[in-house]
Amino acid sequence: MLKNLFGKHKKDALYFNMTKDETYEADVEMNPDDVLEKEDSIDKSATKKKEDKTDSETPEMMTCSKCNKEVSVSDMKKNLYVCPECGYHHPISAQRRIRGLVDQGTFRKLKCNIPFVNPLDYPDYEDKITKLKNKTNLDEGVLSGIGEIEGRKAVIAVMGSEFLMGSMGIAVGEKITNAFEMADRFKLPLIIFTASGGARMQEGILSLMQMAKTSAAAERFNEHGGLYIACLTNPTTGGVSASFATLGDITLAEPGALIGFAGPRVIEQTIGQKLPEGFQRAEYLETHGYVDRIVSRNDMRTVLGQILRLHDKRRK
Ligand SMILES: [Zn+2]
Repeated sequence: MLKNLFGKHKKDALYFNMTKDETYEADVEMNPDDVLEKEDSIDKSATKKKEDKTDSETPEMMTCSKCNKEVSVSDMKKNLYVCPECGYHHPISAQRRIRGLVDQGTFRKLKCNIPFVNPLDYPDYEDKITKLKNKTNLDEGVLSGIGEIEGRKAVIAVMGSEFLMGSMGIAVGEKITNAFEMADRFKLPLIIFTASGGARMQEGILSLMQMAKTSAAAERFNEHGGLYIACLTNPTTGGVSASFATLGDITLAEPGALIGFAGPRVIEQTIGQKLPEGFQRAEYLETHGYVDRIVSRNDMRTVLGQILRLHDKRRK
């Protein structure tokens, strides 16, 4: 599809954060220490303390937003915020997801700090971003790094819906592109967990341009034989669903995830028709071939481990 959308020349032009001399096949051997943070930034005690503090402030019991049953917070945490009663997948922070996914102590963040920009002089935008950074302990709406899953190394990028709904602005687009580039440089598979409300309105058209940029990065990675596994979580909508989220070699989805471009209400209003039951949910999309497999959050580590093992054998 991409080949039709962008001719070879145009696609290269769109891939604007890379000059012709600086392609993936760069001869220069790259040292992982140049592109990775020094320590395992996810297991840092500061992060844990911050989260624990938040946890101790939350009541002992919580009500499942799907089945309304009371469930103890510790049970919910052990179950990666999947309701033990009804299996509903509650939102989970990017840090917690990574901690539940990778082998302990193996995750190192990619160095990719994008300076803040406010192209439209959007009121209070900088203030909002600063507050969110402190609150979520994320640099931006995506957390990326290299980690191991069941002993197999991969580049992993996780979007955080806790950061402005995981909306894709310049920084998110650049971090996703960087994840594709690093996966290619180090010949590693790439796993991206998407959770996004779409483009970031505060950054206007520059936000929309990230769709072309990330799609071109996905295509280039694909041309070089890289394995890209997209894991779609609730919600994956707007510009993210219309770009890298749906370009995976393998597309997994969490149960019940809303996946689509525009919301069902908008579509119904536009076409003046009622949509089929379960439209845009992961299960419907699996039945119709858009999603390869629905994987519960608790099984995700095992399934990804299996895929990485199979891929490892093939690429050697
Ligand atoms: Zn429930």
